[in-house]
Amino acid sequence: MKNKIRIYELAKELDLKSKFVVEFLNDLGADVSNHMSSIDEDIANMLREHFAPEEEETLVREETKVVKKKRRPFKEEEDRDDALKLRAKKKRGAKRGRIQEPPAQKPKRIILGESVAVNELAQKIGVPGTEVVKQLMKIGVMASLTQSVDYDTAALVAERFGVETEPERDLAEEVFAPVEQDPARLAPRPPVVTIMGHVDHGKTTLLDYIRKTKVTAQEAGGITQHIGAYQIEYNGKLITFLDTPGHEAFTAIRARGARVTDIAVLVVAANDGVMPQTVEAINHAKAAGVPIIVAINKMDLPAANPDRVKQELTEHGLVVEEWGGDTIAVPISALRGDGVEELLEMILLVAEMEDVKADPDCPARGTVIDAKLDRGRGPVATVLISQGTLRVGDSFVVGNYCGRVRALIDDRGQQIKEAKPSTPVEVLGISDVPQAGDSFVVVTDEQTARQVAEIQQEKQRERELSKTSRVTLDDLYRRIQEGAVKELNLIIKADVQGSAEAVRSSLEKLSTEEVRVNVIHQAVGAISESDVLLASASNAVIIGFNVRPEPNARKAAERDGVDIRTYRVIYNLLDDVKAAMEGLLEPEFKEEIVGRAEVRQTFKVPGGVVAGCYVLDGKITRAAQVRVLRDNVIVHEGKIASLRRFKDDVREVTHGYECGIGVERFNDIKEGDVLEAFQMVKVERSL
Ligand code: GDP
Repeated sequence: MKNKIRIYELAKELDLKSKFVVEFLNDLGADVSNHMSSIDEDIANMLREHFAPEEEETLVREETKVVKKKRRPFKEEEDRDDALKLRAKKKRGAKRGRIQEPPAQKPKRIILGESVAVNELAQKIGVPGTEVVKQLMKIGVMASLTQSVDYDTAALVAERFGVETEPERDLAEEVFAPVEQDPARLAPRPPVVTIMGHVDHGKTTLLDYIRKTKVTAQEAGGITQHIGAYQIEYNGKLITFLDTPGHEAFTAIRARGARVTDIAVLVVAANDGVMPQTVEAINHAKAAGVPIIVAINKMDLPAANPDRVKQELTEHGLVVEEWGGDTIAVPISALRGDGVEELLEMILLVAEMEDVKADPDCPARGTVIDAKLDRGRGPVATVLISQGTLRVGDSFVVGNYCGRVRALIDDRGQQIKEAKPSTPVEVLGISDVPQAGDSFVVVTDEQTARQVAEIQQEKQRERELSKTSRVTLDDLYRRIQEGAVKELNLIIKADVQGSAEAVRSSLEKLSTEEVRVNVIHQAVGAISESDVLLASASNAVIIGFNVRPEPNARKAAERDGVDIRTYRVIYNLLDDVKAAMEGLLEPEFKEEIVGRAEVRQTFKVPGGVVAGCYVLDGKITRAAQVRVLRDNVIVHEGKIASLRRFKDDVREVTHGYECGIGVERFNDIKEGDVLEAFQMVKVERSL
């Protein structure tokens, strides 16, 4: 006779309510009537295991486990083995995969996702749900029919029914995963160059000069199209220039995880020297690990002082060759063309040193550097091919969209049949307009392309629902604890250089053994979109000291989930960062939109104007603050003076209903205005 135990005894032992244990067991498919019912000792053991406090992941745990196993014997040798197998697998964080033992006859095979509900698993295996629950219990997993188990667990259970499993493939992930290139097939490709530098230092002039003089003249009209990049030939070798100067474009692409630039040319005007955007450009290029060639421009001016430029560059870690460093600097005049040939030579030299290569024969891959909706031609993207050859007729996926190449147009406006590595080319035949920085991958057929695009769009929706991966000061401590963060990357913007410097050095002193404070960029001026892009690409928090974000930057930060903090007092700033590192940050207030109403009519009443509104979404509450929007421009912000349905004052009106709204101290309300109700909510830190 088997050992049995009454439920109330077990409940007492486990410090649980009897009623709960009864419900729990019934949930699992056991038929238990009340706390006086008896259950088998081995089921009791499963409960003991399940409700035991979480143990530490240490060696000690191993030992206690062994002891435990003796105390709570498994019914069958096999049960214990499987339970152990499962635990070992989990501990190793093992890759999910099929179980290796050879099957007797050709087994059934099912495909499982990362997690599966127990009843769905049973259905797939082809057995009653209770059978699966029972097997789960035997290997120490308590789950009811509607609960989910992970892949490893499901695979073990399936195996017990003689069913093989296979993890579900993520087609999109497979398609976009970088492919290992066969070294034997690599051939040199033209380097891709971005020109960066401070405004007015001559970036555009240099790009124009090169375009005008170095494009082979036989093509009709040379380059007339601007497609985001162009290619020139120098000494029989090709060089690709990205046509949008400045680091914004460069970093926008990098923020999407792509690196297209092989070499950065930093233009510094010899009469002006190193300026804030020069420093910004240096930091952007360094963060991306791209080699820099300095072009000291405007050498034709009498005020040119190249030595001063070189001196200033050393302060930012770029030491020119003649001073014993390894930075190549070429004096040029972009206006007259002096030194440009030498600059091109240097670009080719660096390309050779950097071993810029690609396989020209594999299916094509690339990155979108520009995209638009063309009236006549539909969605058009300029793709810079990184490997392989793209041909007319190829099926492809690009970002969240797919298509089949209808036509390829080069930087001279000519239709071409194929594009090789480092060639910028306009691609026609895309289902929608992708974003700069999106990956472009050729796939075997149209159906695959469509499937991947669908998966991508689904993922995009999910991502939008949970924008959480960026570091913010709010969750810094939790991520330090999880080991997810070892460095706190910061970008500092301040009103004057002196305070930027002071903020930087004080912040860097906050570094602890666990977290290093790392200032990746520091400059004077408002927080710009470019700062946000850099922060997004480098997972940094932006600190503004006596400066505010520009509207574009604010939007970009919201879109990308970048944390921007602004301060006026350095002690507050230091306190916050320190508190964030120690997990003591005070909750902060954020604005939350509660609802929107459209003004359908206006009524004059004694003391003002009341707007007859229709609530479009959410709700309008009496306590909320309200913003009056006219064509999306804020015309007023204030309190709600009255909120009525028919003649009654009400506390809130929900979406789909009409109401009358009066806005405090604002009578200029017009038909068609939108009232946006919002409130400030406390954001609790999640630790
Ligand atoms: P960007 O803002 O860096 O693109 O600078 P631009 O290419 O628009 O040049 C800004 C100004 O500097 C223009 O008036 C150019 O004509 C002038 N400029 C550019 N390169 C040179 C140069 O080599 N010598 C002289 N004297 N002026 C130049």
